Amino acid sequence: MIQANRLDNGFFKYQKEFEDAALRVLRSGYYVLGKEVESFENEFAAYIGSKYCVGVDNGLNALKLAFRALGIGPGDEVITQASTYIASVMGISMNGATPVLVEPDEYYGPDPKAVEKAITERTKAVLVVHLYGQCCKMDEITEICRAHSLKLVEDCAQSHGSDFDNKRTGTFGDVGCFSFYPTKNLGAFGDAGAVTTDDPELDKKFRVLRNYGSEKRYHNMVVGENSRLDELQAALLRVRLSHLDEINAERAEIAAAYGRLIDNPLITLPTVREKGSSVWHQYVIRCDRRDELKEYLAEQGVGTIIHYPIPPHLSQAYAYLGHKKGDFPITEKYADTVLSLPMFTGMTKEEIEKVAEAVNSFR
Ligand SMILES: *Cc1c(COP(=O)(O)O)cnc(C)c1O
Repeated sequence: MIQANRLDNGFFKYQKEFEDAALRVLRSGYYVLGKEVESFENEFAAYIGSKYCVGVDNGLNALKLAFRALGIGPGDEVITQASTYIASVMGISMNGATPVLVEPDEYYGPDPKAVEKAITERTKAVLVVHLYGQCCKMDEITEICRAHSLKLVEDCAQSHGSDFDNKRTGTFGDVGCFSFYPTKNLGAFGDAGAVTTDDPELDKKFRVLRNYGSEKRYHNMVVGENSRLDELQAALLRVRLSHLDEINAERAEIAAAYGRLIDNPLITLPTVREKGSSVWHQYVIRCDRRDELKEYLAEQGVGTIIHYPIPPHLSQAYAYLGHKKGDFPITEKYADTVLSLPMFTGMTKEEIEKVAEAVNSFR
């Protein structure tokens, strides 16, 4: 059985480095907000090309803190794509702001025309989600935000290292929000996240907000949160970050092999937008008979995952937005037809070929 995803290979490949880093922290006697977090923040900011990076506890809280720091709350609207992981939308609504959903383009980012149409006088920001590893159409979207004086936030939970016009995701907007959940391209060994920005004021706000609202111990300026990244995860992330280009290159090879080998008129393969790149967080195909295909592949020993079967607007959590089936036909079509093929560090040539053969033999 080829699993849809497995994480053990990614540990064993760099086992000694991970174990050394973990022991270094365990023996240091210092576990929260220390040298490892500071070093990781500097290294990650340098990697993506932003001035600042602030480590936080997970990707959802990165999003939540981004909107909070930008002063976006009740009465404000934030436009984002209907076809995303529900956490993106939660990052908006946890601050009391209203998510306004729009249809995606064929590369799963928000359709710029739909974004522009959805702007009202209450709109304060746009949240782009670089879904499946691929950058959104940032030339048009940054221009729309500039023209309408809207804040721009990027959900980069699936796009560590991908770029558009040679500029990396997480550097286009006011804030870039990252998750380092273990399955992400840059994955920790537990929950972790970060925000990136070029604005020194926002950098300072994030440092205060993540730590009970205090810059100086016991001097609490605002009612903050506990959203800190810990030393152990930061040290392990530093190891992973030093190999991220290699990790992403391997995923690109797997994607290229699928592209070469899979040839079945019933299947639509993923494509990458002009001037953009993908770090292949997922390799997402589409098929009108998706559920049959998923079952068939399982019988052939190929595990797959649906990212994501229920779009946020049809979830119980967002019933209060008042949407119904049919409101976002493109999003709903994607939810009914997408399927993610196996993609992980250490996938063998034989495994890749077996997956492709199984997909090709589906009739
Ligand atoms: C994983 C993910 C998140 C949430 O990150 P967590 O660290 O799990 O909270 C948000 N948005 C997207 C697109 C994700 O894939």
